[in-house]
Amino acid sequence: MPHRAKQRVLPPPLPEWFPRGTTLLRDPTLNKGTAFTEAEREALGLRGLLPPRVAGLEDQVERVLENIRRLDSNLSKYIALESLQDRNETLFYRVVTENPDEMMPLIYTPTVGLACQQFGHIYRRPRGMYVTAADRGRVAQVLRNWPYREAAIIVVTDGERILGLGDLGANGMGIPIGKLALYTACAGVHPRHCLPVLLDVGTNNTALHTDRLYLGLRQPRLAGAAYEEFVEEFIDATQQVFPGIVVQFEDFANHHAFTLLQKYRGRICCFNDDIQGTASVTVAGIFSALRVTGRPLGEQTFVCLGAGEAATGISDLLVEAMVDDGMAEKDARGRCWLVDSKGLVVAARTDLAAHKKPYAHEHAPAATFIDAVRMLKPTAIIGVSATPNTFTQQVVEEMARLNERPVVFALSNPTSRSECTAEQAYAWSGGRALFASGSPFDPVTVGGRHFVPRQGNNSYIFPGVGLGAIAGGLSQVTDRMFMAAARTLAAQVSDADLAQGSLYPPLARVRDVSAFIAAAVIEEALSAGLAGIEAPADMLAYVHGQMYSPEYASFA
Ligand code: NAD
Repeated sequence: MPHRAKQRVLPPPLPEWFPRGTTLLRDPTLNKGTAFTEAEREALGLRGLLPPRVAGLEDQVERVLENIRRLDSNLSKYIALESLQDRNETLFYRVVTENPDEMMPLIYTPTVGLACQQFGHIYRRPRGMYVTAADRGRVAQVLRNWPYREAAIIVVTDGERILGLGDLGANGMGIPIGKLALYTACAGVHPRHCLPVLLDVGTNNTALHTDRLYLGLRQPRLAGAAYEEFVEEFIDATQQVFPGIVVQFEDFANHHAFTLLQKYRGRICCFNDDIQGTASVTVAGIFSALRVTGRPLGEQTFVCLGAGEAATGISDLLVEAMVDDGMAEKDARGRCWLVDSKGLVVAARTDLAAHKKPYAHEHAPAATFIDAVRMLKPTAIIGVSATPNTFTQQVVEEMARLNERPVVFALSNPTSRSECTAEQAYAWSGGRALFASGSPFDPVTVGGRHFVPRQGNNSYIFPGVGLGAIAGGLSQVTDRMFMAAARTLAAQVSDADLAQGSLYPPLARVRDVSAFIAAAVIEEALSAGLAGIEAPADMLAYVHGQMYSPEYASFA
C-alpha cells in the first residue's frame, strides 16, 4: 500500500472577539485550564498565566477526583463540583460522565435536596434565570438577557414541592440546575441548549422569610388568577424568545402540576418529569420485574403508597401498558390502587382531588397501608409518599407471604424519605423482593446472597426524551413517547442484571440508553406526525451525531 502523508486539519482562525488571557481562563465554556497547549498559550496570551506543564483531561479528571474524595461531606462535594462547573464546564462533564455512580448522587438526588435546603447559605455564583412575580409584564424582556440564543430546553420549577421536602421557594433553583446537568451528562444535550429557570412567586415557608441569607422574594406565594397569569406570560415568553423551546415542568405542587401539564401539553413541546418521567422509569422497572416472575402484566395488582404526581402518573402509564396488551381500560384501572394519608382511595370518599378519582374504586375503606395490603393482596407495592419507614417489616413480610417474588419499589426521595431501605426489603422478604429505590442504596448481602439494587432513577428517561424532543424538532411530547421510553429502557436490562437483583441497567450505560430512548421518541413522533424532521436513514446514528461529548476544542 503506498504511503500517504497524514493531512493535518488546521482549526479555522479565531475571530477577533475571541477571549484571550485571564478573560479566556474565566470563561467556563472555553476554559481548558492546564490543558491549553503550548501553541494555544502562545496564540491566546496565556503564557505565564498557567503552571508550565501542559496536562490534559485525563490528569485533570484524576486531580478533581482526588480533591472531591478528600472532602468529608456530600454537601462540600456538591459545592466543589458546582464550582468546577463554573470554572471549566468540559472538565465538569467529563468527571460526571466517566463516574456516574459516584457523581450523580452528588449533583442530583439525594445531595441536591440538602443543597436546596441550604441554597441561600452556600450560594456562590449565579446560574440559570430567576423570573419573579415582580417581573410581570416584562418576562420576555427578562428572558432576552440570557446570553445563549441557542437555548433549546428549559427546566422550570416554582419551588413549591422540591423532591419530598416541600416548599423551598427560590432555593428550589438547585433542581433545574441539577436536572439540566444530567441532560448533558446522561444524554449529551449541549450545555448551551440548557436553560434552568426558577419562577419566584414567593414562598409560604415562613422560616425562609426570616432566614437572613434567603435570596428569594419574602412574600406569600402568588395564588389563583395572579399565579396562572404569571405562568401564562412566562410560557408565552419562552416561545417568543426561544421559538419551539422544550419546557420541562419540575417539582410543582399537585394543585398546579396536573393543570399546567393539561393546559400546555397540546400548545407547546412540554412535559412534567415528576408525572410522566417517573411513570416511565417505574413501568420499565415493572417490565423487568415481570421478566423475573414470568407473570403477565394483566395479572398484577399494583398499590401505590402516595396519591400524588408520581402515583397517578405511574398508574396511568401502567393502565396504558395493560391496554396495549389487550385489556379493557376499565379493567386495567381496577388493577391500580392508591393509598394516601387518609387511607385507601375509594369511591365513597368525599375528600378526593380530581387526579385521584380515576383510581377511587368501589371498595370498603382501609385506614392503613397494611390493611390495604391485606385486603387487596397486591403483587407490587410502589412507595411514592415522601414518608419514610412506611414499608414496615409487617408490610414487607405480608408481601412476601402473598407473593413468591414480591415487587417492592421504595421510590421516595431523598434517602431520608425512602419507604424502606434495600437491606430491609431483602432481609424482611427472605431475599425474595424485587426491589428498586428512588435514591441509591449500596449492594446488600442477605442470607449469603449478594444483591445489587438499582435506582428507578428518572435520569434513565428524561434526558433521552429531552434529547429526542430537541433532535427531532418535536411539537409535542406525548404519553406514547414515555411508553416507548419505558419499553426501550426495559429492553436494555440484561439477564445478568436481573440475576443480581438489578431491574435497571448500570448507570455507566446511561448515555447509550438515552440515545436509544431519543431514537424511540423520534420514531414515535414521526409516526404521530409530531416531528419537525424527515426520518433519517439511520436514526441511532443521527441521534449520536447530535450528542455533545465533553472534549476540548482546539483553538490554535
Ligand atoms: P406529591 O406531593 O405529588 O405526592 C405525595 C403523595 O403522598 C400525596 O398524595 C400525599 O397525600 C401522599 N402522602 C403523604 N403522606 C402520606 C402518608 N403518610 N401515607 C400515605 N400517603 C401519604 O409528590 P410526588 O411527586 O408524587 O413524589 C412523591 C415522592 O416520590 C417524593 O419523595 C419524590 O421524591 C419521589 N419520587 C421519586 C421518583 C423516582 O424515584 N424516580 C420520581 C418522582 C418522585
